[in-house]
Amino acid sequence: MQGAHHKREVRTIEPHGFCSGVSAALHKAFGALGDHGGAVYCLHELVHNETVVRDFELRGMKFVESLDDVPHGATVVFSAHGVSPAVRRAAEMRALHVVDATCPFVARVHRTVAAAAERGVPVVVIGNAKHAEVVGVAGETGDSGRVAVVRTVADVAGIPFDESSEVVVVSQTTLSADEVADVAAALKSRFPKASFSPSSEVCNATRDRQRAVREFAKANPGAGVLVLGSANSSNTRRLAEIAEAEGAKAWRAGNMDELSAIDFGPTEVLGVTSGASTPESFLDQAVAFAAKA
Ligand code: SF4
Repeated sequence: MQGAHHKREVRTIEPHGFCSGVSAALHKAFGALGDHGGAVYCLHELVHNETVVRDFELRGMKFVESLDDVPHGATVVFSAHGVSPAVRRAAEMRALHVVDATCPFVARVHRTVAAAAERGVPVVVIGNAKHAEVVGVAGETGDSGRVAVVRTVADVAGIPFDESSEVVVVSQTTLSADEVADVAAALKSRFPKASFSPSSEVCNATRDRQRAVREFAKANPGAGVLVLGSANSSNTRRLAEIAEAEGAKAWRAGNMDELSAIDFGPTEVLGVTSGASTPESFLDQAVAFAAKA
C-alpha cells in the first residue's frame, strides 16, 4: 500500500546500559554532593555521558581537567576511569578530600601494573593512549619508561622491549573483546614470556553488552541497531562497530538532537542498546521515538 505507515518493531537488547562500575560511581558522587556543604569538584567527566555530567553540573558539581583548578582543601571526586599515583599525590599535596569513584575493575588493572612495576617488569597496555583510563593505568609505572600502549595488532611490532623478557599485559576495560584477544595473541607470539590475567581483558560488563549486540544482529538479519551513548564513550562506540561488523546498519545517538537527525529509512526491526554510562531514561525516550520515526 503506497504511503502506508509501516510500524517499526523496536526491541531492547539485554543487557544494556549502566554497569556496576558506573552505578557505584554515580552513587559515590551523589554522596559527595550530599556530604559536603562547599563546592564539590570532579576531575574529568565522572563517566563518559553528557546527560549524566550535565545533571551533576546542575546539582552544583564542578568538572575540572586539572587539580590546579581545585581550591586547597576542597572535595574532589576521581572519575570511574581512575587516576595515576601522581594525581593521588597531587591531591594529597593540596590537602584535598578525595572521593574515589574508580571502578573496582579498573582498580584491579592498576594493582596488576603496580605489581609489575614493583618487580621492574615492563608493561604493555592494550588501549587508546589518550583515554583517561589508560593514562591512569600507564601512570602506575611511574617515570620508569617501562610501559608501551598498543591499540592494534600492527602496533605490537613497534614495542621497544626485549622479546625474551617477561612483560605484563593489561587492557583498557572498554575495547572490543575480540580485538583485545587478537592483540593479546600477537603479544604472546612476539613475547613468549608475556603474562596475562583477568586484567588483560575487557571487563565483564563490556563483554556481555558486546555479545548481546552480536547475537541480536546474527539472529535478525536486515535489522538495524541503535546504540545510545556519547561520542566519547569507548564502550558505546565499540557496540556500534560490532553491530556493523555483523552486517547490521548501526546508528549512535547521545541525546535527542542527535536521535532526531537519524533517518532509519525502511528499517523494520530495530534493536536498541546503550553504553555502560547511558541513563535508562534516555533509552525509554529513544525507544518511544524510534518506533514512530
Ligand atoms: S565498563 Fe567495566 S570497567 Fe568500566 S565502569 Fe563499567 S564495569 Fe567498570
